[in-house]
This record gives sequence, C-alpha cells and structure tokens, in this order.
Amino acid sequence: MYCYETFHETLAQGLISNVRGQNPPHAYIFEGDSGLGIYGTARLFAAALACTGENEPCGICNSCIGAKADSNPDIITVAPEDKKKSIGVEVIRDMIGDAYVKPFLARRKVYIFPDAGIVTEPAQNAFLKLLEEPPDYAVFILIADNADLLLETIRSRCVKVRFSPLSEQKMTEYVEKLSPNDKRLGFIVRYSGGIPEKAAKIISDEGFDALRTQTVRKLPELFSQRRLSAYSICDFVEENKDNAPLIFTLWEGLVRDIILIHNGSSTLITNSDYETELRDLAMRVDEKSAMSAAESIMLAEEMQRRYVNLRALTLKMALSISAN
Ligand SMILES: [Zn+2]
Repeated sequence: MYCYETFHETLAQGLISNVRGQNPPHAYIFEGDSGLGIYGTARLFAAALACTGENEPCGICNSCIGAKADSNPDIITVAPEDKKKSIGVEVIRDMIGDAYVKPFLARRKVYIFPDAGIVTEPAQNAFLKLLEEPPDYAVFILIADNADLLLETIRSRCVKVRFSPLSEQKMTEYVEKLSPNDKRLGFIVRYSGGIPEKAAKIISDEGFDALRTQTVRKLPELFSQRRLSAYSICDFVEENKDNAPLIFTLWEGLVRDIILIHNGSSTLITNSDYETELRDLAMRVDEKSAMSAAESIMLAEEMQRRYVNLRALTLKMALSISAN
C-alpha cells in the first residue's frame, strides 16, 4: 500500500478511510504492547492525514514524497531531548510553538509520540492546554502501551485505538519472510506471542540461540534426583546471570510442553524443534511432576525480579523440582 512496514494493515485502512474527505479528530491514542510496530502504522496514518492529493496517501504529492523520505517537515516525531529518558515541559513548549505555525507543504501537521508514556505529568498538563484548543490543521498521535497511565484529562480528548498482537498466521508469514526455512519457526511464532519485534530480535540474535540450546540441554538435570545436578543448574544460571529471566522463561515453556505432550496436545507445543528431546523426557517425568516443576520455575522467575539472591533461589527451585 505504501512504503511503511505496517503489521496492522486492516486497522490502518480503516483509520484512513474514516478521515477521508472529513475533519479527523485532533488526537488519538494508539494503545498496544511495545514491539507491535505501532509507530509504522502511525507514520502511514500521518502520511494520509498530511497528503494534499486524492486517495490519501497518494504517494506522489510533495507531502507524500517527504513522508516517504522521512523528511516531511509537517510530520513531527516528539522525542526526549538528548540523553534524557522522559519528555519534559521544554519539549512540549517547543511543540506548542511549532504547532501554531501553519503546515509548510502538507494539508495538516501531525505530531507523533512514539512513547507517550514518558511524557512527564507537568508536560502532559502543558500539552493539555494545546489539546483543549488545537489549531484546525493539527493532529496528535500518542502511542502508549498502557493508556491508563496518561492523565484522564488527556485521555478524554483522544480517540483510543487498540492494537492487538498479530495472529499466528500473520506471525508465521512474517517469520518465514525474515528467516526462510528456519527450523525454529514454530518456536519463534509461539514464543514471540504475536509481537513481531520480539521475533525479529530472536532471529537476529545469535547469542539467543546458543543460550536456548544450553537451556534445553540442562533440562534433564532439572529433574534429576542427584544433588550435584542441582548445583550444576545453579552454576549455569549464575554464569548467565544477565539472562536469568530468559532462562527461567525458556524452562517454563519447555516444561509446559512436556505437560502438553502428556495431554496429547503435542501440536500445541512451543518448542516444536526439540520435540524428540521433550518426548524422551516426558517418558521419565510424569504430568504431575511437570506441573509442580512449572510452578517452582514460575516462583523462581518471580523471586529474581525481587532481587532475591540468584543462587539461593535457583537452588531452592532445583531442589524442589528434584524432590517431586
Ligand atoms: Zn499525497
């Protein structure tokens, strides 16, 4: 349709056709998990709002050409100042000043906040004044993973558009395009839970694959009765302590797959590329033990988020699994 990667084509088409030939609302909140590619959709929508041609975005008017090249002066991305993590009052004041200057070449001026969650409360209040009486030609698109964190006074002036994770079929097509003939296809699609950026990250990160292989290899030791195995599990987690949350998540997924195999639902398993290994293990680990192991792993996952000593919590987890 246009030059931007948009994972939400139907939604984008709907938004665009709603504003063709009429005055759009002045402000939108695009809400959805980060990694869903909402910014791409926002840019496409902005191109349509800014277009001076027909059948927006026409792709050939000066505004569209600028939008494609990411150099349209009337499509503005609102980001923090250098080295800052939040958007403060200064940035919003500059934006307000800019908003009262008419569009340079486009039909409208569109301001996109890639992460509205980082706009400080005083800055939101400053923004509110503009939102109460915006210039006719201005449209604001606020992207947020949780709109409830924005001030109610801001929210009530925006049209909320909810973005959902991609379907399994869409994710499969995306992964196949990004990494053809990848034997991890099933795993990547299920593990990334409909978030395309998560899938892209797995594909581009070689370290991830190596760590995952090790995590799978360690799995039988988790269920071993030998005390030495528990220590070996601890060493492994400690050696990879920066990735400890990921290791716990992967183990939990693997153990859930064992439960699915016991249930006769092996078509639903996440780690389909390791199905043989998982089936072998399922012969030794019954469903009940797998279920209590999943609980122990979840508990360890939870505890490491609370900065409990990593070695201690891993040992506790390993011993409670082997005791079952
Ligand atoms: Zn155009």
